[in-house]
Amino acid sequence: MIIVPERDIAGLIGPADCFVAVEGVFAAMARRTARNFPVVREALGHADALYGFKSGFDGESLALGLKSGGFWPGNMARGLTNHQSAVFLFDADTGQCRAIVGGNRLTALRTAAASAISIKYLARQDARTLGIIGAGHQSTFQLEAALEQRAFEKIVGWNVEPEMLSKLEEVAARRGLPFERVDLDGLGAQADVIITITSSFAPILKVAQVRPGTHIACMGTDTVGKQEVEAELVARASVFTDEVAQAVTLGESQHAVAAGLVDAGSIVEIGQVVTGGHAGRTTPEEITLFDGTGVGLQDLAVASAIVDLAVRKGIATEVEF
Ligand code: NAD
Repeated sequence: MIIVPERDIAGLIGPADCFVAVEGVFAAMARRTARNFPVVREALGHADALYGFKSGFDGESLALGLKSGGFWPGNMARGLTNHQSAVFLFDADTGQCRAIVGGNRLTALRTAAASAISIKYLARQDARTLGIIGAGHQSTFQLEAALEQRAFEKIVGWNVEPEMLSKLEEVAARRGLPFERVDLDGLGAQADVIITITSSFAPILKVAQVRPGTHIACMGTDTVGKQEVEAELVARASVFTDEVAQAVTLGESQHAVAAGLVDAGSIVEIGQVVTGGHAGRTTPEEITLFDGTGVGLQDLAVASAIVDLAVRKGIATEVEF
Protein backbone atom coordinates (compact mmCIF):
# COMPACT_ATOMS: atom_id res chain seq x y z
CA MET A 1 0.00 0.00 0.00
CA ILE A 2 1.22 3.48 -0.87
CA ILE A 3 1.07 6.40 1.54
CA VAL A 4 1.32 10.01 0.32
CA PRO A 5 1.28 12.27 3.38
CA GLU A 6 -0.19 15.75 3.45
CA ARG A 7 3.26 17.37 3.53
CA ASP A 8 4.18 15.90 0.11
CA ILE A 9 1.06 16.99 -1.79
CA ALA A 10 2.12 20.59 -2.55
CA GLY A 11 5.34 19.41 -4.19
CA LEU A 12 3.59 16.77 -6.27
CA ILE A 13 0.53 18.32 -7.88
CA GLY A 14 -0.68 21.75 -8.94
CA PRO A 15 -3.76 23.29 -10.56
CA ALA A 16 -3.01 22.06 -14.11
CA ASP A 17 -2.85 18.33 -13.24
CA CYS A 18 -5.91 18.66 -10.98
CA PHE A 19 -7.83 20.35 -13.80
CA VAL A 20 -7.14 17.42 -16.14
CA ALA A 21 -8.10 14.84 -13.50
CA VAL A 22 -11.38 16.55 -12.54
CA GLU A 23 -12.36 17.37 -16.13
CA GLY A 24 -11.85 13.69 -16.99
CA VAL A 25 -14.04 12.41 -14.20
CA PHE A 26 -16.80 14.95 -14.93
CA ALA A 27 -16.82 13.55 -18.47
CA ALA A 28 -16.97 9.98 -17.15
CA MET A 29 -19.92 10.99 -14.93
CA ALA A 30 -21.70 12.32 -18.03
CA ARG A 31 -21.07 9.02 -19.82
CA ARG A 32 -22.53 7.26 -16.72
CA THR A 33 -19.40 5.14 -16.37
CA ALA A 34 -18.50 6.85 -13.07
CA ARG A 35 -20.86 7.29 -10.17
CA ASN A 36 -20.86 8.77 -6.71
CA PHE A 37 -22.27 6.80 -3.80
CA PRO A 38 -24.60 8.35 -1.20
CA VAL A 39 -22.82 10.85 1.04
CA VAL A 40 -22.64 10.20 4.79
CA ARG A 41 -22.31 13.27 7.02
CA GLU A 42 -23.00 13.10 10.75
CA ALA A 43 -22.65 15.34 13.78
CA LEU A 44 -20.45 13.33 16.16
CA GLY A 45 -21.73 14.86 19.37
CA HIS A 46 -18.05 15.26 20.29
CA ALA A 47 -15.77 18.29 19.75
CA ASP A 48 -18.64 19.92 17.81
CA ALA A 49 -17.36 17.88 14.85
CA LEU A 50 -19.10 16.99 11.61
CA TYR A 51 -17.72 13.78 10.11
CA GLY A 52 -18.52 11.81 6.97
CA PHE A 53 -17.59 10.03 3.75
CA LYS A 54 -17.75 10.82 0.07
CA SER A 55 -17.16 7.80 -2.13
CA GLY A 56 -17.59 6.47 -5.64
CA PHE A 57 -16.25 4.38 -8.50
CA ASP A 58 -14.96 5.42 -11.91
CA GLY A 59 -15.36 2.43 -14.22
CA GLU A 60 -13.03 4.00 -16.81
CA SER A 61 -9.99 4.82 -14.64
CA LEU A 62 -10.95 2.15 -12.06
CA ALA A 63 -10.54 4.72 -9.27
CA LEU A 64 -12.44 3.29 -6.30
CA GLY A 65 -12.47 4.65 -2.79
CA LEU A 66 -13.59 7.32 -0.40
CA LYS A 67 -12.67 10.58 1.23
CA SER A 68 -13.18 10.49 4.96
CA GLY A 69 -13.15 13.63 6.99
CA GLY A 70 -15.05 16.63 8.20
CA PHE A 71 -15.01 19.81 10.18
CA TRP A 72 -13.57 20.32 13.68
CA PRO A 73 -14.28 23.94 14.68
CA GLY A 74 -11.82 23.87 17.60
CA ASN A 75 -8.83 22.97 15.43
CA MET A 76 -7.67 26.56 14.74
CA ALA A 77 -6.87 26.96 18.44
CA ARG A 78 -4.65 23.85 18.16
CA GLY A 79 -2.78 25.23 15.14
CA LEU A 80 -4.61 22.90 12.74
CA THR A 81 -7.03 23.67 9.90
CA ASN A 82 -10.67 23.03 10.80
CA HIS A 83 -11.32 20.84 7.76
CA GLN A 84 -9.45 17.51 7.99
CA SER A 85 -9.59 14.65 5.53
CA ALA A 86 -7.80 11.69 3.99
CA VAL A 87 -8.52 9.75 0.78
CA PHE A 88 -8.42 5.94 0.68
CA LEU A 89 -8.07 4.23 -2.71
CA PHE A 90 -8.88 0.56 -3.24
CA ASP A 91 -7.89 -1.86 -5.99
CA ALA A 92 -11.04 -2.27 -8.10
CA ASP A 93 -10.11 -5.88 -8.98
CA THR A 94 -9.36 -7.17 -5.47
CA GLY A 95 -10.75 -4.65 -2.98
CA GLN A 96 -7.34 -4.34 -1.34
CA CYS A 97 -6.42 -0.93 0.04
CA ARG A 98 -4.09 0.59 -2.56
CA ALA A 99 -3.25 4.00 -1.13
CA ILE A 100 -3.87 6.60 1.56
CA VAL A 101 -3.46 10.22 0.45
CA GLY A 102 -3.60 13.39 2.57
CA GLY A 103 -6.88 15.10 1.71
CA ASN A 104 -6.62 18.69 2.94
CA ARG A 105 -4.75 20.45 0.14
CA LEU A 106 -6.29 17.97 -2.30
CA THR A 107 -9.78 19.22 -1.35
CA ALA A 108 -8.87 22.84 -2.06
CA LEU A 109 -7.21 21.91 -5.36
CA ARG A 110 -10.06 19.72 -6.62
CA THR A 111 -12.66 22.34 -5.64
CA ALA A 112 -10.71 25.06 -7.45
CA ALA A 113 -10.37 22.77 -10.47
CA ALA A 114 -14.17 22.40 -10.63
CA SER A 115 -14.82 26.13 -10.79
CA ALA A 116 -11.96 26.56 -13.28
CA ILE A 117 -13.59 23.93 -15.50
CA SER A 118 -16.87 25.86 -15.29
CA ILE A 119 -15.05 29.04 -16.33
CA LYS A 120 -13.38 27.27 -19.26
CA TYR A 121 -16.70 25.98 -20.62
CA LEU A 122 -19.19 28.67 -19.56
CA ALA A 123 -17.56 32.10 -19.20
CA ARG A 124 -17.45 34.51 -22.12
CA GLN A 125 -14.15 34.36 -23.99
CA ASP A 126 -13.75 38.13 -23.51
CA ALA A 127 -14.10 37.97 -19.70
CA ARG A 128 -11.46 40.33 -18.26
CA THR A 129 -12.52 41.09 -14.67
CA LEU A 130 -12.72 38.35 -12.04
CA GLY A 131 -14.76 38.85 -8.87
CA ILE A 132 -14.30 36.84 -5.70
CA ILE A 133 -16.72 36.72 -2.77
CA GLY A 134 -15.03 35.05 0.19
CA ALA A 135 -11.47 35.12 1.46
CA GLY A 136 -11.05 31.98 3.56
CA HIS A 137 -8.78 28.97 3.11
CA GLN A 138 -10.21 27.91 -0.28
CA SER A 139 -10.22 31.36 -1.85
CA THR A 140 -6.59 31.62 -2.96
CA PHE A 141 -6.79 28.19 -4.61
CA GLN A 142 -9.92 29.37 -6.42
CA LEU A 143 -8.18 32.52 -7.59
CA GLU A 144 -5.03 30.76 -8.82
CA ALA A 145 -7.00 28.18 -10.82
CA ALA A 146 -9.42 30.72 -12.31
CA LEU A 147 -6.61 32.97 -13.55
CA GLU A 148 -5.47 30.16 -15.90
CA GLN A 149 -8.77 30.14 -17.79
CA ARG A 150 -9.14 33.63 -19.26
CA ALA A 151 -6.89 36.66 -19.87
CA PHE A 152 -8.09 38.38 -16.70
CA GLU A 153 -6.78 41.93 -16.29
CA LYS A 154 -8.29 42.83 -12.91
CA ILE A 155 -9.59 41.18 -9.73
CA VAL A 156 -12.31 42.64 -7.52
CA GLY A 157 -13.03 41.15 -4.10
CA TRP A 158 -15.51 41.30 -1.24
CA ASN A 159 -15.53 39.52 2.09
CA VAL A 160 -17.75 39.91 5.14
CA GLU A 161 -14.51 40.31 7.12
CA PRO A 162 -12.62 42.70 4.80
CA GLU A 163 -9.25 42.30 6.55
CA MET A 164 -9.12 38.71 5.20
CA LEU A 165 -8.89 40.03 1.62
CA SER A 166 -5.17 40.69 2.02
CA LYS A 167 -4.28 37.12 1.06
CA LEU A 168 -6.14 37.50 -2.23
CA GLU A 169 -4.33 40.81 -2.75
CA GLU A 170 -1.01 38.97 -2.29
CA VAL A 171 -1.91 36.43 -5.00
CA ALA A 172 -2.97 39.24 -7.35
CA ALA A 173 0.28 41.13 -6.70
CA ARG A 174 2.31 37.98 -7.36
CA ARG A 175 0.48 37.54 -10.66
CA GLY A 176 0.99 41.22 -11.57
CA LEU A 177 -2.73 42.03 -11.52
CA PRO A 178 -4.56 44.96 -9.89
CA PHE A 179 -6.87 44.08 -6.99
CA GLU A 180 -9.72 46.32 -5.82
CA ARG A 181 -11.75 45.91 -2.62
CA VAL A 182 -15.35 46.66 -3.61
CA ASP A 183 -18.88 46.50 -2.24
CA LEU A 184 -21.27 43.95 -3.73
CA ASP A 185 -22.83 46.47 -6.14
CA GLY A 186 -19.35 47.37 -7.38
CA LEU A 187 -18.37 43.72 -7.70
CA GLY A 188 -21.40 42.82 -9.82
CA ALA A 189 -20.99 45.95 -11.96
CA GLN A 190 -17.40 45.10 -12.88
CA ALA A 191 -17.01 41.33 -12.83
CA ASP A 192 -17.42 39.15 -15.89
CA VAL A 193 -16.83 36.04 -13.78
CA ILE A 194 -17.77 35.76 -10.09
CA ILE A 195 -16.66 33.01 -7.71
CA THR A 196 -18.46 32.68 -4.38
CA ILE A 197 -16.57 30.68 -1.75
CA THR A 198 -18.01 31.42 1.70
CA SER A 199 -19.72 29.58 4.57
CA SER A 200 -22.78 31.79 4.35
CA PHE A 201 -26.28 30.62 5.33
CA ALA A 202 -28.04 33.62 3.75
CA PRO A 203 -27.88 35.08 0.24
CA ILE A 204 -24.98 37.50 -0.29
CA LEU A 205 -25.21 38.31 -4.01
CA LYS A 206 -28.54 39.57 -5.35
CA VAL A 207 -29.99 39.20 -8.84
CA ALA A 208 -30.07 43.00 -9.31
CA GLN A 209 -26.29 43.17 -8.75
CA VAL A 210 -25.36 40.83 -11.62
CA ARG A 211 -24.94 41.96 -15.23
CA PRO A 212 -26.10 39.98 -18.29
CA GLY A 213 -23.31 37.78 -19.61
CA THR A 214 -21.77 37.06 -16.21
CA HIS A 215 -20.60 33.58 -15.25
CA ILE A 216 -20.97 32.73 -11.56
CA ALA A 217 -19.31 29.76 -9.89
CA CYS A 218 -21.04 29.12 -6.55
CA MET A 219 -18.56 26.94 -4.66
CA GLY A 220 -19.26 27.50 -0.96
CA THR A 221 -22.67 25.86 -0.61
CA ASP A 222 -22.12 22.18 0.10
CA THR A 223 -24.57 21.59 2.96
CA VAL A 224 -28.30 21.77 3.58
CA GLY A 225 -29.18 25.35 4.57
CA LYS A 226 -26.10 27.13 3.20
CA GLN A 227 -26.73 29.84 0.58
CA GLU A 228 -24.54 32.39 -1.22
CA VAL A 229 -26.80 33.95 -3.87
CA GLU A 230 -30.46 34.88 -4.07
CA ALA A 231 -32.74 32.09 -5.28
CA GLU A 232 -34.01 34.56 -7.92
CA LEU A 233 -30.48 34.77 -9.33
CA VAL A 234 -30.34 30.97 -9.70
CA ALA A 235 -33.76 31.15 -11.40
CA ARG A 236 -32.52 33.85 -13.78
CA ALA A 237 -29.42 31.87 -14.79
CA SER A 238 -28.73 28.84 -16.94
CA VAL A 239 -27.71 26.42 -14.18
CA PHE A 240 -24.95 23.83 -14.45
CA THR A 241 -23.60 21.57 -11.73
CA ASP A 242 -21.27 18.69 -10.98
CA GLU A 243 -24.14 16.40 -9.92
CA VAL A 244 -27.84 17.28 -10.07
CA ALA A 245 -28.81 15.08 -7.09
CA GLN A 246 -26.42 17.02 -4.84
CA ALA A 247 -27.24 20.43 -6.34
CA VAL A 248 -30.93 20.16 -5.51
CA THR A 249 -30.42 18.79 -2.00
CA LEU A 250 -27.31 20.48 -0.60
CA GLY A 251 -26.02 22.80 -3.31
CA GLU A 252 -26.80 26.40 -4.20
CA SER A 253 -29.81 25.25 -6.24
CA GLN A 254 -31.57 23.75 -3.18
CA HIS A 255 -33.38 27.02 -2.33
CA ALA A 256 -34.56 27.88 -5.85
CA VAL A 257 -35.77 24.30 -6.40
CA ALA A 258 -37.56 24.22 -3.01
CA ALA A 259 -39.23 27.55 -3.82
CA GLY A 260 -40.44 26.18 -7.15
CA LEU A 261 -38.37 28.74 -9.09
CA VAL A 262 -36.17 26.15 -10.81
CA ASP A 263 -37.07 22.74 -12.17
CA ALA A 264 -34.42 20.15 -11.24
CA GLY A 265 -34.75 18.75 -14.77
CA SER A 266 -33.42 21.99 -16.25
CA ILE A 267 -30.08 21.75 -14.42
CA VAL A 268 -27.27 20.49 -16.66
CA GLU A 269 -24.28 18.45 -15.49
CA ILE A 270 -21.05 20.16 -16.51
CA GLY A 271 -19.79 16.80 -17.79
CA GLN A 272 -22.42 17.06 -20.54
CA VAL A 273 -20.72 20.25 -21.70
CA VAL A 274 -17.23 18.71 -21.40
CA THR A 275 -18.29 15.76 -23.60
CA GLY A 276 -20.09 17.97 -26.14
CA GLY A 277 -23.60 16.73 -25.27
CA HIS A 278 -24.66 20.25 -24.28
CA ALA A 279 -23.53 23.53 -25.84
CA GLY A 280 -22.97 25.32 -22.50
CA ARG A 281 -23.27 29.10 -22.91
CA THR A 282 -25.34 29.90 -26.01
CA THR A 283 -25.47 33.74 -25.99
CA PRO A 284 -23.15 36.52 -24.75
CA GLU A 285 -26.01 37.94 -22.62
CA GLU A 286 -26.84 34.72 -20.81
CA ILE A 287 -26.03 34.48 -17.09
CA THR A 288 -24.47 31.08 -16.45
CA LEU A 289 -24.21 29.66 -12.93
CA PHE A 290 -22.17 26.64 -11.88
CA ASP A 291 -23.40 25.01 -8.67
CA GLY A 292 -20.22 23.27 -7.50
CA THR A 293 -21.26 20.95 -4.69
CA GLY A 294 -18.13 18.80 -4.53
CA VAL A 295 -18.38 15.08 -5.34
CA GLY A 296 -16.34 12.13 -4.11
CA LEU A 297 -15.19 11.25 -7.63
CA GLN A 298 -13.27 14.55 -7.77
CA ASP A 299 -11.32 13.46 -4.70
CA LEU A 300 -10.63 10.00 -6.11
CA ALA A 301 -9.49 11.41 -9.47
CA VAL A 302 -7.02 13.82 -7.90
CA ALA A 303 -5.82 11.27 -5.31
CA SER A 304 -5.16 8.78 -8.13
CA ALA A 305 -3.17 11.42 -10.02
CA ILE A 306 -1.16 12.17 -6.85
CA VAL A 307 -0.33 8.48 -6.33
CA ASP A 308 0.77 8.15 -9.98
CA LEU A 309 2.99 11.23 -9.64
CA ALA A 310 4.48 10.01 -6.34
CA VAL A 311 5.32 6.63 -7.90
CA ARG A 312 6.77 8.27 -11.03
CA LYS A 313 8.91 10.64 -8.96
CA GLY A 314 10.09 7.81 -6.71
CA ILE A 315 8.85 9.39 -3.49
CA ALA A 316 5.94 7.05 -2.75
CA THR A 317 6.17 5.37 0.67
CA GLU A 318 5.17 1.69 0.37
CA VAL A 319 4.10 -0.38 3.36
CA GLU A 320 2.99 -4.00 3.73
CA PHE A 321 -0.72 -4.06 4.53
P1 NAD B 1 -13.04 29.26 5.72
O1 NAD B 1 -13.65 29.02 7.06
O2 NAD B 1 -11.57 29.31 5.62
O3 NAD B 1 -13.59 30.66 5.13
C1 NAD B 1 -14.96 30.96 5.18
C2 NAD B 1 -15.24 32.20 4.37
O4 NAD B 1 -16.65 32.48 4.46
C3 NAD B 1 -14.53 33.44 4.86
O5 NAD B 1 -14.29 34.28 3.76
C4 NAD B 1 -15.55 34.07 5.80
O6 NAD B 1 -15.34 35.44 6.01
C5 NAD B 1 -16.82 33.80 5.02
N1 NAD B 1 -18.03 33.77 5.83
C6 NAD B 1 -18.24 33.07 6.96
N2 NAD B 1 -19.48 33.29 7.41
C7 NAD B 1 -20.08 34.13 6.53
C8 NAD B 1 -21.36 34.72 6.45
N3 NAD B 1 -22.30 34.46 7.36
N4 NAD B 1 -21.62 35.53 5.41
C9 NAD B 1 -20.68 35.78 4.47
N5 NAD B 1 -19.45 35.25 4.50
C10 NAD B 1 -19.15 34.43 5.52
O7 NAD B 1 -13.67 28.19 4.74
P2 NAD B 1 -13.08 27.63 3.38
O8 NAD B 1 -12.27 26.42 3.66
O9 NAD B 1 -12.49 28.73 2.57
O10 NAD B 1 -14.43 27.10 2.69
C11 NAD B 1 -15.40 28.03 2.22
C12 NAD B 1 -16.68 27.29 1.94
O11 NAD B 1 -16.48 26.35 0.88
C13 NAD B 1 -17.21 26.48 3.12
O12 NAD B 1 -18.60 26.66 3.20
C14 NAD B 1 -16.88 25.06 2.75
O13 NAD B 1 -17.75 24.12 3.35
C15 NAD B 1 -17.06 25.12 1.25
N6 NAD B 1 -16.39 24.08 0.49
C16 NAD B 1 -17.00 23.64 -0.64
C17 NAD B 1 -16.40 22.67 -1.41
C18 NAD B 1 -17.07 22.20 -2.67
O14 NAD B 1 -16.62 21.22 -3.29
N7 NAD B 1 -18.09 22.88 -3.14
C19 NAD B 1 -15.17 22.12 -1.03
C20 NAD B 1 -14.56 22.62 0.11
C21 NAD B 1 -15.16 23.60 0.87
